[in-house]
Amino acid sequence: MALCITNTMSGKKEPFVPLTPGTVNMYVCGVTVYDQCHIGHARALLTFDVIHRYLRFLGFDCRFVRNFTDVDDKIINRANEEGIAPEALAQRYINEFHRDAAALGLAEPTVEPRATEHIDGMIALIAALVERGHAYAVAGDVYFAVESFPEYGRLSSRSLDEMTAGARVEVDDRKRHPMDFALWKAGREGEPFWDSPWGRGRPGWHIECSVMSTRYLGQPFDIHGGGQDLVFPHHENEIAQSECGTGKPFARYWIHNGFVQLAKEKMSKSVGNILSIKEVLERFDPVALRLYMLTTHYRNPIEFSEEGLTEAQRTVARLYETASRAERLIGPSPDGAAESGPMDDFRGEMDDDFNTPRALAVVFEELRAVNRLLDEGHTRALDGRRNGLRAMTEALGLMQAPPERFLEERRRSGLARLDLSEDEIRRMIEERNAARRVKDWGQADGIRDALKEKGVLLRDGPSGTTWELAE
Ligand SMILES: [Zn+2]
Repeated sequence: MALCITNTMSGKKEPFVPLTPGTVNMYVCGVTVYDQCHIGHARALLTFDVIHRYLRFLGFDCRFVRNFTDVDDKIINRANEEGIAPEALAQRYINEFHRDAAALGLAEPTVEPRATEHIDGMIALIAALVERGHAYAVAGDVYFAVESFPEYGRLSSRSLDEMTAGARVEVDDRKRHPMDFALWKAGREGEPFWDSPWGRGRPGWHIECSVMSTRYLGQPFDIHGGGQDLVFPHHENEIAQSECGTGKPFARYWIHNGFVQLAKEKMSKSVGNILSIKEVLERFDPVALRLYMLTTHYRNPIEFSEEGLTEAQRTVARLYETASRAERLIGPSPDGAAESGPMDDFRGEMDDDFNTPRALAVVFEELRAVNRLLDEGHTRALDGRRNGLRAMTEALGLMQAPPERFLEERRRSGLARLDLSEDEIRRMIEERNAARRVKDWGQADGIRDALKEKGVLLRDGPSGTTWELAE
């Protein structure tokens, strides 16, 4: 089976055929940089990171563009509140975004353009729209005339009448139709502005993605992605602008990820009712967050669940411990051949609209198989199976570090969280050994229990006492 993708435009699963064989051009809407990214952003970022990685895994040369919206009402308002320049505020949150992206282990996009670097392109596209009769200027503002584009509403499957009835439309005498949207906004005091044929002002939000996507990927291009909340009006408007401005089709496959739902009590606990990526990563491993997100199909809503994340944390530890055990037994995994049967199953599931929950079922089955072979000391059969396991987990971005290093870092960060050092633990183990030697069981058990209370478990074996962190 070849890769199939649910295309929001048709509402159906369609075989994926790129415009140029072997190449995929993909654009995903990025963030507006005025605040910390939250867990909903993390879902979109991880969804398209896995799609990006899987396309490369299939051998496609994937050109991936993700933008920054760095001029917007929210940025301007926030900057004014803080008494700083909007550019400074935007730059601060671009830096924050890069920190989050690195922590989440996102593969870098090919291009990461900023809206303010493409104002000339936006002015050119708006001018073309005015010239072709799809847009009109009113007192320094320019609006797109939705009635000039009969296809408007195709992506969200809604007619203009339905949209107008559903929206709380403000009466605006300057607009020809209530759904007409701003391409250019006349400059106001205290706001950033650029010169244009319609006077000083700044672009509306939607026009930037029409310009940046086709600037780097051409028109049409293969895949356009984003969160479900962007289908209307943002993506609907992008299509209208791009197709009317050039007379050419815009994007061929539309991919949208579902929401993250927060239980009510969780929402009230965190500042601003929203859980930031940073807050989540203070308590959970980023790989566990990724794994947890992948247990639900990207199109479905997902509930943020502490239990789910804790469980994912255990699974991640098992993945790395298994890889580490295999390494100790038969050496590190080179780019050796993988057992074909399980790999075919994995591909079959991922080819079916990136069905990560079912692909993970294949991964977990392989994890059990590899552990069985390890228990039995079956070294010959082990190599192909663990290579397969590694290839699958790499395709999902679940294994980005050598297992030993990952486990070591995990131990260190776990200890830091418990406020304990390895030296202290070792000293307590020695004290316990001394107590055991003189048969002071009360003292020995007391030390063991004290460590357990702190989250450190002791295991007595033939080669002495080892310790591990409780989950
Ligand atoms: Zn966009």
